[in-house]
Amino acid sequence: MTTFVEEKRENPFAIAQQQFDIAADILNLDPGMRDILRVPQRELTVRFPVTMDDGSVRVFTGYRVHHNITRGPAKGGIRYHPAVDIDEVRALAMWMSWKCALVNIPYGGAKGGVVVDPKQLTMHELEHMTRRFASEISLLIGPEKDIPAPDVGTNAQVMAWIMDTISMHRGYTVPAVVTGKPIDVFGSLGRMDATGRGVSITAREAAKHVGLKFDEATVVVQGFGNVGSASAALISKMGAKVIAVSDVSGAYYHPRGLDIPAMLQYATQNKSLHGYQAPGLELLSNAELLELDCDILVPAALENQITAANAERIKARIIVEGANGPTTPAADEVLFDRGVFIVPDILANAGGVTVSYFEWVQGLQEFFWSEEEINERLERIMVRSFNGVLEIALNQRVPLRTAAYLVAVKRVADATLIRGIYP
Ligand code: GLU
Repeated sequence: MTTFVEEKRENPFAIAQQQFDIAADILNLDPGMRDILRVPQRELTVRFPVTMDDGSVRVFTGYRVHHNITRGPAKGGIRYHPAVDIDEVRALAMWMSWKCALVNIPYGGAKGGVVVDPKQLTMHELEHMTRRFASEISLLIGPEKDIPAPDVGTNAQVMAWIMDTISMHRGYTVPAVVTGKPIDVFGSLGRMDATGRGVSITAREAAKHVGLKFDEATVVVQGFGNVGSASAALISKMGAKVIAVSDVSGAYYHPRGLDIPAMLQYATQNKSLHGYQAPGLELLSNAELLELDCDILVPAALENQITAANAERIKARIIVEGANGPTTPAADEVLFDRGVFIVPDILANAGGVTVSYFEWVQGLQEFFWSEEEINERLERIMVRSFNGVLEIALNQRVPLRTAAYLVAVKRVADATLIRGIYP
């Protein structure tokens, strides 16, 4: 489970704060405003027992952090992973605030997590752990105040259990309490692929900008979970050649291109790509995959993958961050100097939360849209956000990440200023 994570990873929250500071300096943000936005507003830590299938009791630790709720209800996923800790959840919550502000949807930023390897639990244990965690964080969550969604290690089924648990507490069905639900229980068409779709749209726009023909581009995708697999599938459908993908079992490389639909089917049947075979396929490590010769690299796994240790050796011209926090600030500097065009996480992977917003709106109105309508609206928001960020990056000669932060942080700061400080 830890193959994507470096032994001694940099603290993601310290990284999130560094990224914020760069924008705060350029915006010349008032010191008080800086202090408000630099730290999460609320943090809940829960420790809760679950009866395991063998009758023993195991105590789990989980978190729900609200970074900022000035622009609307707190929004962000729930992660199940053994490396979850409070600083990771803080960073992810802060990134959600900027992400929602950047694409201009009316949400604040939140994130949750449980320290667990979900693959080690039976279905029954996973359900019980999820329901108990949902009860513990029900202090915070609700359609009008905090709306969780899937993240690493969670999926639509987990969301259905959370929705059901909160609905049981209230005595009626509350569809809008989570997003990323199965279609059968008020999920939204297009949500499954939404993050990958956003990644593929921003990859296409980035290619256009650097003068790279998308249908001649070679693409490498790190991670084959919800984001990585949908990104790979949509990117190859759009005509680019996906030459390598990876998951926890390692990386799979074919210079002439991979059969992504076949790999998707294999991964669904076998729960990972472990053992996947095809003629001419080369097996590599995740570290080797990142350094492959390609036009576009899509890190879609975890944080801290592209660091000062490997940034010099990255050969891609474009990096599209499907994951949250895959590139450290030190690597950002190296890559900017080398002319690598990075579409930052808060822009590249914002398609997920954007369609989450559509799902929430549909749930509140109990009126559902067609997949076409969803994809069209998503496309419009992604292209508009990309172009807005690109324009600032070009005008101010700053990396796209900084430009994205300038837009997002300013939106949150302006809203805070207009609302004023209570009391
Ligand atoms: N976990 C996803 C993210 O990091 C989606 C969050 C959401 O839809 O609320 O953006």
